[in-house]
Amino acid sequence: MPPASAHTGIDAPADIAIVGAGAAGLAAAFWAARTAPAARVTLLDGARTLGAKILVSGGGRCNVTNREVTERDFHGGSPRLVKRVLQAFPVAATRAWFGEMGVPLHEEALGKLFPATNRARTVLDALVTACRDAGVRIQPSSRVSAVDALDGATALGARFALVTPGGLLHARRLVLATGGLALPRSGSDGAGYAMATAFGHRLVPTTPALVPLVLGGHVHGALAGVSLPCRLRLETSRPPGARPTIVDGAFLWTHTGASGPAVLDVSRHWLRADLEGRDPALQASWLAGEPPGRVEEWLVAAAREHPRAALRTVLSHRLPASMADLVANGPAAAPMAVLRRDERRSILSRLTAWPLEVTGSRGYTHAEVTAGGIALDEIDTATMASRLEPALYLVGELLDVDGRLGGFNFQWAWSSGAVAGRAAARSLGR
Ligand SMILES: Cc1cc2nc3c(=O)[nH]c(=O)nc-3n(C[C@H](O)[C@H](O)[C@H](O)COP(=O)(O)OP(=O)(O)OC[C@H]3O[C@@H](n4cnc5c(N)ncnc54)[C@H](O)[C@@H]3O)c2cc1C
Repeated sequence: MPPASAHTGIDAPADIAIVGAGAAGLAAAFWAARTAPAARVTLLDGARTLGAKILVSGGGRCNVTNREVTERDFHGGSPRLVKRVLQAFPVAATRAWFGEMGVPLHEEALGKLFPATNRARTVLDALVTACRDAGVRIQPSSRVSAVDALDGATALGARFALVTPGGLLHARRLVLATGGLALPRSGSDGAGYAMATAFGHRLVPTTPALVPLVLGGHVHGALAGVSLPCRLRLETSRPPGARPTIVDGAFLWTHTGASGPAVLDVSRHWLRADLEGRDPALQASWLAGEPPGRVEEWLVAAAREHPRAALRTVLSHRLPASMADLVANGPAAAPMAVLRRDERRSILSRLTAWPLEVTGSRGYTHAEVTAGGIALDEIDTATMASRLEPALYLVGELLDVDGRLGGFNFQWAWSSGAVAGRAAARSLGR
């Protein structure tokens, strides 16, 4: 690295430099500039055009947040710490902020909130405009390749030197908002982990999350495109007596395995258990968790009331036709009256406990978020400041926090970004 004095940046340090202009970085930059209007707030991103991930989010509509968000919607770091951050910038604050930016939100199924325009572009444009109007200096094409802590504050108070393509940028406060590893083509390639660990932070091993799963066998290929409601049940060998993870929602067969909201939500649990050697085993109930006893009663009643109906016909009253064939298997065409008890039991098990032979996931390229990341217990969650370097703040997906599907990951980005931006701005006066 060239000596700091060789660069013009030393003459004009940013008061607050934010690395990463995704959701968390934009929130941090806006709230920093709003809180300290005279401060020089610089927002850097490696990408030439900002907001690739926001634009593809929510199927291009951006599920901004959810009607209700609590710590129970997240995994990773301690729920107590997550709660503290959410309470400091809750959903009501997010709604008010978006309203102020001219982006009213409307509610859809499961409490999901989207912009009234149903366009993610509205969200991105509003955030960028709000940052610019608040005085944030936005620098695209500015990938930060390294961050050095300066030995003691310089005369101008700079604590950090950031290596950018345009030279060194010095900064008094630094917010790392570089995201995790999900959707690497958007610019989130995990570079922030190296920067944070260089300051002594601990990296909780990462896995993709909210990601389609890859299945063994051939069943999925024939059913690709078929969607149906299900209840997924994930069991693990450890800790002894561990309660199974249950997820309800839509299931989608794909050419490589399975996707759909239920699969995306369960994916992090399967991948974490696999990473930790806890032998995950995943099963699907195709009757959305209806107890096996009730399902058996239904099959017995169907045999009594429609003895000549073919098994596949009876099943297709409650399943897509191709699934009815799959579940019925051998005796698909047999009339209900001739079904033996053991055959009925076998159908029952295929209906309520279908084993899914998961071999892995589609990886970060297809993941919506990263599980794992920089350990949350090393962050002062009242300010999002590092406990190891108080002028450093860490926010968003970079941290060991991942939410379930439904707008929760963006809420984490808005909350943690806003808390950091405000705190970094307030700290300048001290
Ligand atoms: C397809 C898809 C759909 C999604 N849909 C939703 C949804 O509808 N609702 C929801 O709540 N969540 C959704 N998510 C998740 C959500 O997008 C993320 O949780 C959120 O964007 C994380 O924000 P972030 O700012 O922490 O990280 P990111 O959005 O990943 O932003 C990090 C930024 O840092 C920049 N950067 C990285 N390294 C450097 C560096 N060294 N120098 C400079 N810049 C750097 C990157 O270019 C990037 O712009 C979706 C994710 C995906 C992939």
